[in-house]
This record gives sequence, structure tokens and C-alpha cells, in this order.
Amino acid sequence: MLFVETRGNDGVKPEKVSFSQAILSPSASFGGLYVPESLPTLDEAFYHSHLKSSYKELAYDLLKRFGIDIEDSLIKEALDLYDRFDDPNNPVPVVQVEEKFYVSELYHGPTRAFKDMALQPFGHILSVLAKQRGENYLILAATSGDTGPATLETFKNKPNIKVACLYPAGGTSDVQRLQMVTEDGENLKVIGIEGNFDDAQTALKNLLASSEFKAFLQSKGIKLSAANSVNFGRIIFQIIYHFHSYLELMRKGDINFGDRINLIVPSGNFGNALGAYYAKKMGLPIEKISIASNANNVLTQLIKEGRYDLRDKCLIQTSSPAMDILKSSNVERVLYDKFGPARTKELMESLNENDFYALTPKELEALQEDFDADFTTDNEVLKIIKEYVEEKNYLMDPHTATTVKLYKSHRNMDNIAYSTAEWTKFAPTVYKALTGKDKNIRDQEALEAVSQMTGAKIPERIKALFEKPIIHDTVIPKEKIQESIIEFLE
Ligand SMILES: *Cc1c(COP(=O)(O)O)cnc(C)c1O
Repeated sequence: MLFVETRGNDGVKPEKVSFSQAILSPSASFGGLYVPESLPTLDEAFYHSHLKSSYKELAYDLLKRFGIDIEDSLIKEALDLYDRFDDPNNPVPVVQVEEKFYVSELYHGPTRAFKDMALQPFGHILSVLAKQRGENYLILAATSGDTGPATLETFKNKPNIKVACLYPAGGTSDVQRLQMVTEDGENLKVIGIEGNFDDAQTALKNLLASSEFKAFLQSKGIKLSAANSVNFGRIIFQIIYHFHSYLELMRKGDINFGDRINLIVPSGNFGNALGAYYAKKMGLPIEKISIASNANNVLTQLIKEGRYDLRDKCLIQTSSPAMDILKSSNVERVLYDKFGPARTKELMESLNENDFYALTPKELEALQEDFDADFTTDNEVLKIIKEYVEEKNYLMDPHTATTVKLYKSHRNMDNIAYSTAEWTKFAPTVYKALTGKDKNIRDQEALEAVSQMTGAKIPERIKALFEKPIIHDTVIPKEKIQESIIEFLE
């Protein structure tokens, strides 16, 4: 399989690249992204043949059908990392919460958020490729809390890769911060930025635009890659679990092949939803992909009204910080798929220049064939968490709670909602939901209290965080970042 570019080709970059090229250097012409030229399609026999497969067997078969230029043995090694999940036989349990409402839990990996689903295998493949080529890569990450821990965890002590991770000091939960600042590994640098996530992200953008920094990297022979979901190496692993979740319902005998179901995805950068879209195109019987947002509801507006409009919006901090995003990168890949490179380039340029684009009525109709959307406020999230603990005995994190409203408007068919984080990453919000107390509680105390109230277990890895030594204590203003990263790379 080869990859082409969402905004067309600039005549300098190759017109098509292989999978390994697309993941090592993910930036495409005109600031665009790499997308597969075509997708494999799967017939009914595929599903029946996988009814007894493990997650890894299913994943291996799917990856082979993509025809990626990665050796079989490396694919297998990468998939073996799912053995580090709670249940190696089923890394993604699908739990029925009530009639017509299932939750597919993507958070059973080492950092307790769905980022592990892709970053675990992807990190291994990237570092082996770098080593085979004798190249050195720097991964720069700005994180609001989940990408950081998962990126550090997958790359720690890996050869030929260094990671510098920027997080907003005071802008993450205690658990998320500790997951980063206690992570040891010679090749890792974690830097707290004085400011919010926007500041961290701006700092990263400035760094990437700095000619001084580029010259420094060149002099050291260090190349830049990326570990966020602009990298197709993340997306490919985020296609698999949609098939797995559907198969789980078939295995339970709750659906037959061909029954259409609804998928509900708590969305930020749209990587998870894009994986669902590709799965649908590959033949998975999905009625709609329902995009759940929080108060940062740009995607709801896009899908309902056909306008991507940031002119009157600023980022709102919510209890589901991984979804606090205004520019959702992977929407671009859907635009490309539906409207082609010229139109995508036009729309994306309008977004960058005018903070705005509008789809034509026909284009909006095409988008709505696959997607619908709604958003949930923080207050509603609190009520939902409490209601589901008390009435259904199911504990969900604030991101997962944003899916419930969307399921309620699709009661005519089975719904699978994705749970993207374990409650333990957001214990103070869950505590507030269950007790109604709005006091400033630290994560450690909230974890204990919620665990006592609900009987939910706290994983050893989370408990241990509070005892581990702090390794990265750098907190600096954003002007000092370049200096700090250069010092680390020296
Ligand atoms: C990253 C993340 C999301 C958003 O996923 P996208 O693929 O960026 O849309 C949602 N919830 C949690 C907990 C996350 O970590």
C-alpha cells in the first residue's frame, strides 16, 4: 500500500510514499497529511473466519491486508506488546452496560488511556525502523495529559529515538503529571511549561519553525518525526479495535453479521473517529459514527451545520481535557477522502487564514452520511457519571461520559461507545460527581475515596506513582524551551 497527500503534491516531495516513509517523516506537501491511496475491503467470510481469533490474530490479518512494508516478524513483535494489557487474551473488553449500549474499553494498557492502543505497537515499529536505517529521530510532543505518558512509556530506553515532552505545569491531573515526571529513561526529557496547553502547543510550533533549532538538529544528524495522530502509524492501529468490537458482539450472539450498529467516539483530534471511518469504508456494518464532544463543540457544529468556525471561539478548559481541542487535525483526512486534494487544500488554507471554512450543502450531506454529533457539558458529565454508578453499577471517566447522550438518541439499534480513559486518571472529577462536593481534592485522596465508595480497584501502577522519585523537575517559561531541549540533545 502506498500513501498520498491530502493537499496534493508540491513537486519536491515524492508523489507516493511507503508506510515506513509516511511514519518516519509524517509531514506532507503544503502542511498536509499522508493518507492511504486505497483501503482493503473485507467480505463476510473475513468476520466468520475471525470469530475465534485473538485480538492479535485479528490485528495481524488486518495489517497484512494493508500490505505495509514492515517485516512479518516486526509486526508480530509490535503486536506482542498487547500482552502488557490487563488481559493479554482480550486487551479490549466490550462490556454491556444496558440494553443497546455497550462500552468498548480501550484503556487497559500501561498508561490507562486509549493512546496505548496505538502508541505501544507504533513506538516499537518506529524505533526498529530508525535503528535498521542507522538514523536518529527526535519526537517532540506537547500534551494535555494522555499523549505524553503513552509516548514516554512506549519510547523509553528505545534505541535511535529521543523524546522531548512538553506539558502545561498545573494543567494536568496529578496522575497524568506523575506518569510523566517519574518516567525514567536516558532518552526522555519532560518539561513543564509555565502556562496552559495552548502555551505548550505554541511553544512547540515556534520551536519547529525556528531556523536555529533546525540547523542544530541538522548538525547533529537528528531527524524529526511525530507521535501524535497526524502520524498514520497511529491511525492504522486505531482501525483494528472497531472490527474487534463488532466481532465481540457477534461472539456474544447479540448481533449477526450485517446488523448495523452505531459507534460513539469521544473525540479530540479525530484519530479514533477516523479509524472508525476507515473501518466503515472497509465494510464494517456501521450506521453512523457519532462524534461526542465537550463544551469545545467545533466538531458538533461542523457535522450539524457544515461550518468549521473558530472566529468566535476560544479554548474552554473542561473535565475531559483530552477533548479540549479547537483544530482537530484528522478531519482533514475525511475531507480528502470525500472531496479530493484540491478542495481539501482550499478548505484547510481557509481555516488557517480565516479561522473558518464552510462546506456546500452537498458536501455537508456527504459528511452526514457517515457522521452525526452532539456535545455534553461538564455539569451533564457529573450527572451521567453518578447516574451510571448508582443505576448501572458502571464507573466511567469524564471522556467516556460524553458518549451517553449520543447513545440515547440511537436507541433503535445497538451502540458501541468507546471508553478512552480509566476513571483513575480523573479521580477528582469522579469524586465530585459521586459526592456532589466541589472541594479541591488531590488525586491520591480522590482515588481512595472513589475506590471505597464504588469498590473499583486502583491498578498497582497508579498507586505506585505516588511513591516513585520525581526524575524530571524542569518547569520553565516557554521562551527557554529551545535552550533546554538543545542542552538535552547535547
Ligand atoms: C486522546 C484522547 C481522546 C481523543 O481522541 P482523538 O483520537 O484525538 O479524537 C479522548 N479521550 C481520551 C481520554 C484521550 O486520551
